[in-house]
Amino acid sequence: MKLGVEAALVQGRIVPGDVEVVDGSIASYGIGTGSGRGLAVPGFVDLQVNGFGGVDLIGADADGYRRAGEALLETGVTAYLPTFISAPEDQLVAALSRLPIDTGGPRILGAHLEGPFIAKTRLGIHPAAARRDPDAALLGRLLAAGPVRLMTLAPELEGAGELIDLLLSRGITVSCGHTDATAEQALEAFDRGARTVTHLFNAMRPFRHRDPGLAGAALSRGDVVVQIILDGVHLAEETARVVWQSAAGRVALVTDSVAGAGFGDGIYVLNGLEIEVRDGVARGPGGVLAGSALTMVDAVRNLHGLSVPLVDALGAASAVPAQVIGLPTLGRLDVDLPADIVVLDDNLEIDRVFVGGEARVVA
Ligand code: ZN
Repeated sequence: MKLGVEAALVQGRIVPGDVEVVDGSIASYGIGTGSGRGLAVPGFVDLQVNGFGGVDLIGADADGYRRAGEALLETGVTAYLPTFISAPEDQLVAALSRLPIDTGGPRILGAHLEGPFIAKTRLGIHPAAARRDPDAALLGRLLAAGPVRLMTLAPELEGAGELIDLLLSRGITVSCGHTDATAEQALEAFDRGARTVTHLFNAMRPFRHRDPGLAGAALSRGDVVVQIILDGVHLAEETARVVWQSAAGRVALVTDSVAGAGFGDGIYVLNGLEIEVRDGVARGPGGVLAGSALTMVDAVRNLHGLSVPLVDALGAASAVPAQVIGLPTLGRLDVDLPADIVVLDDNLEIDRVFVGGEARVVA
């Protein structure tokens, strides 16, 4: 099957011509004169999805995952990590035990456990009662409950190093976040094998001139991927520009979306807590930011809007996040790779979405 596209984004460059898919994989690209419609780009990979399309994933059943998945596809996401914030053990175990789940929608790559081993002083919207000091036995029980692909923890906590070693030994990517770590403590975690940072600048020690914290340590290290929520609220525009200037090519866009994303303003639930999405901004009690109502395609547009070349902005939503969780065949469009593809029109609107070569969204 040929997609009928004008060009494709392959290895960071735009190649004119059509793309052919055989048995769910890309068979060739650059076919013909490029008389088709739209630009084929790799499907988006979102590392942080708490909820979407009206569904809070921590309590979702198969039907909830199906509805969230359909709404995610509409925004170009073809693979994602359901993300569970700090919660009582029985709730996390129950949520993990529902995975893996095949809803026929975007690929579910395993869970992102954001907590519960995080800093008391950097909870954000996480419930204080569910936060835990590092506990290898508890971590072992969580990992036994279901597939975990990524874990966010605060590396400065006593015993966190042992957890990092355990996670890495299981092939799970470690992200530093919700943390009061100094730069020194952050560098120690990176040296130990932590390779990424959860929502850079949010819920961490602020960057100061002689105390740059995790944020400064991560920006200074070429081998660390920084995840950002580029919704115009979580980071000032200047901050986002500085992040890109320091870390172009190792920035991963995430949405940190909650149930209201892809659904509109209203009252929703995040992890049992009532939150309000108003004017596209999600807040919990006391006005604390509670994830976002951002979509991945908007995050790409926002990054491109900061004068970042389109191919790089697209890479931040596909190849970079896929690589950091150890799945280098995802997030790329190339021969023999899965045909997870988004077709964009000239206005960066989504025209079509394919998962494994199957058309799932047609504008
Ligand atoms: Zn968070």
